[in-house]
Amino acid sequence: MNELISTSLTSDQVKAKAKEFGADLVGIADGAIMDQYPPDLKNPRTPSHITEIDGARVIVLAKRISFATSRLPAWNDQHKFYGDELLISALEELALDLVFWMEDNGAPALLVPYHHVDPLKFKKGKDTQATHPLSAEHAAVEAGLGTLGLNHQLITREYGPRVILGLVLTSADIDPDSKMEEALCLGPECGRCLKACPADAVQYWDRDWAACDTFRSPFGFEFMSNYLTSILTEEDQLQQIAKLRGMESSEIFQAMLRGSGIITGCRRCADVCPVGNDYENLLKKWVDEIPEETPEKLKRLEEMVAEATLPEAYEKQHRWIGKFNPIN
Ligand code: SF4
Ligand code: SF4
Repeated sequence: MNELISTSLTSDQVKAKAKEFGADLVGIADGAIMDQYPPDLKNPRTPSHITEIDGARVIVLAKRISFATSRLPAWNDQHKFYGDELLISALEELALDLVFWMEDNGAPALLVPYHHVDPLKFKKGKDTQATHPLSAEHAAVEAGLGTLGLNHQLITREYGPRVILGLVLTSADIDPDSKMEEALCLGPECGRCLKACPADAVQYWDRDWAACDTFRSPFGFEFMSNYLTSILTEEDQLQQIAKLRGMESSEIFQAMLRGSGIITGCRRCADVCPVGNDYENLLKKWVDEIPEETPEKLKRLEEMVAEATLPEAYEKQHRWIGKFNPIN
């Protein structure tokens, strides 16, 4: 178990430095509390699973995504994929700058590559989301940055779900933040994430992660392994060559050059979420209409609103969703 290490640094200094390096939001979670409450009991990935030395605090860094990209309506617009990829790189650089600044000040710190998937835990076709080394969204809630929404996306007061997260572990004895108790999500009476989802993956306080993955990582490992399998099992050699020279090869090649479409992808649910200080002036007019809305989706939302009790999925994630008060 991680123990705190004495330091001359304060949490205010760490947060100010992270903002100076370019973070828009910074929060600090207590690693011991995260160890105590793993988000997934079947696959508990907590700070102590990464390090037993430097995980007593989890510094959560957030950068807002570009407003202009959220105003682009198509879920698969390359400007979104590419812009988000650049943001991830910027976030990793600022996290690394913070690591070295903390270490120069006597506080060892560890960058967690949370966008990467642990290959030892990867199960093809099953919930790749669950295999990140540490859930940055749950860490962000513990660090007081926001709460989880209807589909478990992190929602912040400032930018709604329109943030990309980075994680740094340290055992420096700096004060952690407290999590919010009330849910920021407006629930199924809002349901805009469900209406907009091209995969129809948004459920009643849950998400079909496998369905979501095919959109939020459209050219990711699943796509590539299916594609390579289809080539290897093709008996006609001319067809094999045609496939190799086809569009899919080109898509994989381009995506692998920068990671866009692999570690970035769909975020329609974030673009249309009405929570966030940025929404009213910078987004509402442009994202208000949801072309993906269908009568079936509206019916499902009506049924959720009519439910007398909250579902088991809510209860399981209640700690991070927060206390939900329906509008009516
Ligand atoms: S990321 Fe895209 S596919 Fe996944 S839940 Fe959000 S809108 Fe749906
Ligand atoms: S779009 Fe509405 S229901 Fe979905 S996460 Fe945001 S506030 Fe919650």
